[in-house]
Amino acid sequence: MTTNDVHLATVPHWIAGAPSGSTNGRRSEVVDPATGHVLRLVELGGAAVVDAAVTSARSAAGAWASTPAPVRATTLHRFRALMLEHSEELASIITSEQGKTLADARGEVARSVEAVEVAISVVQHLKGEYAEQVSRGVDTYSFRQPLGVCAGITPFNFPIMVPVSMFAAAIACGNSFVLKPSERVPSASVRLAQLLAEAELPDGVFNVVHGGVDAVNALIEHPDVAAISFVGSTPVAREIYSRSAAAGKKVQALGGANNHMVVMPDADLDAAADALASAAYGAAGQRCMAVPIAVAVGEVADELVAKTAERATAFRTGPGNVEGTDMGPLISEVAIERVRGALEAAPSQGANVVVDGRVNLTSEAGYFIGPSLVDNVSVDSDLYQKEVFGPILSVVRVDDLDEALRIVNASPYGNGATIFTASGVAGRRFAHSVQAGSVGINVPIPVPISWFGFGGWGDSRFGDDGLNYDAYRFYTKSKVVTQRWTEPRMGVSPHFVAARH
Ligand code: NAD
Repeated sequence: MTTNDVHLATVPHWIAGAPSGSTNGRRSEVVDPATGHVLRLVELGGAAVVDAAVTSARSAAGAWASTPAPVRATTLHRFRALMLEHSEELASIITSEQGKTLADARGEVARSVEAVEVAISVVQHLKGEYAEQVSRGVDTYSFRQPLGVCAGITPFNFPIMVPVSMFAAAIACGNSFVLKPSERVPSASVRLAQLLAEAELPDGVFNVVHGGVDAVNALIEHPDVAAISFVGSTPVAREIYSRSAAAGKKVQALGGANNHMVVMPDADLDAAADALASAAYGAAGQRCMAVPIAVAVGEVADELVAKTAERATAFRTGPGNVEGTDMGPLISEVAIERVRGALEAAPSQGANVVVDGRVNLTSEAGYFIGPSLVDNVSVDSDLYQKEVFGPILSVVRVDDLDEALRIVNASPYGNGATIFTASGVAGRRFAHSVQAGSVGINVPIPVPISWFGFGGWGDSRFGDDGLNYDAYRFYTKSKVVTQRWTEPRMGVSPHFVAARH
């Protein structure tokens, strides 16, 4: 099917509390990855639409910043209730455009609700600190104030969780927000905008602009945008970080990943194999905290590969909205080609493909490829070096924990790393030495509950940290007031003042 076959609805921008059409007539197709069919179109905004959204956000920013923090929190409480009420609908929007299974999409909605709860709770940190009598009659206190207009640019793999973890915190802290979601999964953002309006968020506090590079460039260049939050691939994160910083904006830019799981000889191998299969193949490997690399330590390797291969083979690939599916499609034909290319090149670089996801697919239509397991992967190979962002698990064999740590720490990425072991000593050493922002011990995907901050090291994050619990630091600026209040002197003797106190 092409866009000429039927009259398709177009996902609008959301500006000043209402849907907004195009000013330049540019649109792109939103495709259901499970069928390859065009579901709808989406507006592609440029500088004019971005300017309209930022102007709307700027007009709303002052009144929203002056709205008492508990009142802002109450609005977000209403939004949270609406998210819960519509959670099934939100999950199905995620599945239809992103492809992940409904169970996974429901999990994403649940984590997003958690992010709203944490956003509401961290507003208490705006209260700052107070030091009395730092000099005679002098007190110093601090508090935090919102930045103004903040912008978020988000990836395709979490159409709700990543945007919510940005805007809920920014709005709770008293900012207004312009979201530029991934043009491949645009509908969820507009549905969230409707729910925010239903929660009585004032018009203009939350805006959505769809688009690609042009919209992003316009946000970075707009003088009224104070801060940019970005989540996406490393090359784009790096560029957005440097250009936003050069434009004088506060910036946090989270990038790609290539996370490792180290499996020690004393590990529970069934638990490790279960964890590897779910962390490598869940969401078709399209999670920033997926685990595409297993580091098998010592004699554990053969058995680990065999057990993980059994699980990979049992994984059911199919449409995300079909009961019993373990793994949905990839996002696009380009992603499929990337995975195919990585598998084709692997044997020539010394690796052996133990489970090949290119064969035995249950569905011909859509962007499907099954789970793959590749053993004896060299750290110099393309498969190891590049972020494939698909369902391939590479196994690297090493002799001991020292070698495992050297390998993990030589990776340019540092989003997450995990170890499976029965030894507290090995687990503690790993947690202490590994160069990554989120670390797991006997857990597959160490994404912390939102009560903690989230963000990687190395090429997985540029600029400021501050998502989830830490977000209030990013979305506010601190002010420190030093004050002197002395007693009036006119006709009052110091003895009288002293006596009164
Ligand atoms: P992407 O970098 O292609 O796109 C992310 C956003 O940037 C989208 O909104 C897109 O429209 C925009 N964009 C794309 N190219 C651009 C360019 N040249 N200039 C300006 N803007 C541009 O990423 P994606 O494919 O949507 O998402 C997958 C990537 O995101 C993976 O690398 C994954 O690891 C990463 N990711 C990281 C985290 C994290 O927490 N570190 C979380 C989720 C996803």
